[in-house]
Amino acid sequence: MKDRLGRGLRDLRISVTDRCNFRCPYCMPEEVFHGSYPFLPKAQILTFEEVERIARAAVGLGVKKLRITGGEPLLRADLPALVALLARITGVEDLSLTTNGFLLAGYAATLREAGLRRVTVSLDSLDDATFKAMNGRRSGVAPVLAGIEAAEREGLRPLKINCVVKRGMNDQGILDLARRFRGTGHILRFIEYMDVGTLNGWRMDDVVPAKEIVARIGAEFPVEPLDPNYAGETANRYRYTDGQGEIGVIASVTQPFCGGCTRARLSCDGQIYTCLFASKGTDLRGPLRAGATDAELSDLLAGTWGARTDRYSEERTSQTRAGKVEMYHIGG
Ligand code: SAM
Ligand code: SF4
Ligand code: SF4
Repeated sequence: MKDRLGRGLRDLRISVTDRCNFRCPYCMPEEVFHGSYPFLPKAQILTFEEVERIARAAVGLGVKKLRITGGEPLLRADLPALVALLARITGVEDLSLTTNGFLLAGYAATLREAGLRRVTVSLDSLDDATFKAMNGRRSGVAPVLAGIEAAEREGLRPLKINCVVKRGMNDQGILDLARRFRGTGHILRFIEYMDVGTLNGWRMDDVVPAKEIVARIGAEFPVEPLDPNYAGETANRYRYTDGQGEIGVIASVTQPFCGGCTRARLSCDGQIYTCLFASKGTDLRGPLRAGATDAELSDLLAGTWGARTDRYSEERTSQTRAGKVEMYHIGG
């Protein structure tokens, strides 16, 4: 299963809801996602059984990694039941969840019991005021740290901590995060602020390049590059030379990695997107609900992947920015 540029299909990111309890200005700015925002009605959202069928078809075409995301996935009622369905698909080598961590403390145990193996928690700052500015004033740091601790206790390791870096907003806290998570076994990953969607008012000046992030950390704690774990890994890895662990930087803006991009994204209403920056998906919900067989579903997915030519980050230009899908819809 190769796309038009020779890239295999290896990862499926599954968004289970378009709703979120945070309003991170870089993803779901409050001005747009206020009380009367028309989130999708329940009938348009895939059921767990529909998600499972699509995931099985994707695994049949070569997917090895499944990641549950959103919106905020822990807002989806009964999420552990979906984890249980996905965990028993033969051929899945990695099943993880990306969450803002706000509700994680209450869920870590049931998620692990359902078969979740790893979790990624987003945490943009350890400073309450900065963190609130980064999440639309929805939460201080404490509930997220409690979620991280609960995940640790449940053995959902290695934990990844994602921090989106926006210049002038939270970049002064990069070193605090490095200090906090050095020596814990968790992998702290800094993500360059991306021009996903059309709603966050992205400007290149807001991006702190990965090289600068690594240099700032390296000035206090020397680091050296590590080889990728596998071809197509999104993060550039570094280790602290004093043996205190690993960090990653996701340089999607300054060092695009489309050449090795093996990721497809399933939105909560059943569209498959072959790029984070796509303007259009392929509808699988319609065919599913019209009675498509597993083979038909697999053919539809294969045809979509086979026709793929996406390399947005490598081609990033002002002309291509209009009309892109929003991040909360397909989950990053
Ligand atoms: N709500 C969950 C969370 O925040 O972890 C899962 C969904 S969120 C869309 C997935 C990841 O995308 C988060 O780590 C978030 O920080 C990241 N993200 C969202 N908007 C972004 C942007 N404009 N640039 C870079 N990363 C972004
Ligand atoms: Fe919600 Fe995650 Fe987007 Fe923040 S990044 S608004 S937590 S979906
Ligand atoms: Fe993959 Fe699209 Fe991101 Fe390139 S821009 S790495 S093709 S998701």
